[in-house]
Amino acid sequence: MAMESGKASYYFETYGCQMNFAESAALKLTLDERGWNAAQDGEAAGLVIINTCSVRETAERRVFGRLAHYAALKKKLRGRQNPLFVLVCGCMASRLGAKLAENGADFIMETQGGAVFTRILAEIEARLAGAEWQAPQMERDVPDAPLSFAPSHHEAGSFRAFVPIMRGCDNFCSYCIVPYVRGREVCREPAEIFGEVRMLAGRGVREVTLLGQNVNSYSKDGLDFPGLLEELARVTADTPVRRVHFLSSHPKDLSLRTVRVMAGNPVFCRHIHLCVQHGSNRILAAMNRRYTREHFLELCAALRAAMPGITLSTDILVGFPGETEQDFREILSLMEEARFLYAYMYHYNPREGTAAFSLPDRVEPSVKAERLTRVIELQRRHTAELLTSRIGDCAEVLVEGVSRKNGGEMVCRTERDEMVVAEGGAHLTGAFATVRLESLSGNTLRGCFTSEE
Ligand code: SF4
Repeated sequence: MAMESGKASYYFETYGCQMNFAESAALKLTLDERGWNAAQDGEAAGLVIINTCSVRETAERRVFGRLAHYAALKKKLRGRQNPLFVLVCGCMASRLGAKLAENGADFIMETQGGAVFTRILAEIEARLAGAEWQAPQMERDVPDAPLSFAPSHHEAGSFRAFVPIMRGCDNFCSYCIVPYVRGREVCREPAEIFGEVRMLAGRGVREVTLLGQNVNSYSKDGLDFPGLLEELARVTADTPVRRVHFLSSHPKDLSLRTVRVMAGNPVFCRHIHLCVQHGSNRILAAMNRRYTREHFLELCAALRAAMPGITLSTDILVGFPGETEQDFREILSLMEEARFLYAYMYHYNPREGTAAFSLPDRVEPSVKAERLTRVIELQRRHTAELLTSRIGDCAEVLVEGVSRKNGGEMVCRTERDEMVVAEGGAHLTGAFATVRLESLSGNTLRGCFTSEE
């Protein structure tokens, strides 16, 4: 059924980074405001929105698989009163518009422009109301304004929220497609950001995550990233917001002033995701990362000196063209020094359109796979050691919800981004509590609540 209670229904499939999830939430808000209903799955929807990621080839292949699924579903549903429409947005929409249309996308929206989205919705609504339609019809569009941040991405009742502060990236790391599909950096107006955080605080939100491809290079109206953090500390003081995260951070742009502002304000979580990518200066230069391993390790030391106990996480890319065994070992030695709590680890895959695509000396797939395994094994050991060292501590946690594995347990998170499970009731969801950490199971600490808000 495409129509429920006389209203059109939608279903989202969102892939990729937190930015995509935040943008999907913003689109959802527009749908809700226009009276659309959320469908339980794509089969029950009148409009499926696939928000895509181009960072890895596997993510793109998956989307083509989903388009094939919906093309088959459309055939099956042919003749029903309310047709199924598929809208594709996100990075793939910019990169592969024509191919997406050939594979069954009815609408392609290159970036999330409010005016374009509402026009597409108006067309679909007209069709659902009985207007003529020559389906399947592809409409490719770009926003009429270069950028529009949605005024709110917040779901009613939710105690966590994402707040995009910028979009795009100017860095052109040689392996990365993002600057080509997301465009150059555009920063959001400070007043808009503060207004949104005030609104979220007014709704009882406890945790805010600032989002951007490279948040540390935020700069707008004379305000830089540490300035933005300082002001946010003032805006959130004496409000329900007790935690502010931000991601992602680029080591070349993370300033010592930012470290000082974080250290001086407990609202900033004692965790930072700082993408190192590699441990060899030669490979870092080939990646166009514009920092050295020494600089990265100095930053880690500065963060730990300013905020004892802070945890670090990262991204690691193995098998970049030209990577020798010696280069690779420098990743392992950097990991031993930096001691990440967790890492997103992946091996290099050439992306057409990036500078690294034409680089010689590609690493053999079997070598890449073997190196990735070694990195993962080392990271597992570090994760286990860091988490084990926490056993016996008491930690403040934000209770995120009921465990999917055991309805009598609650999943929580510390300000160091450690996951904790403790016995408790659903009424705790969204509350801060103190947990005594007692044991480790996989990558999850187990504990018991000692006090609640
Ligand atoms: S900083 Fe580099 S890796 Fe990150 S989005 Fe920008 S170009 Fe891509």
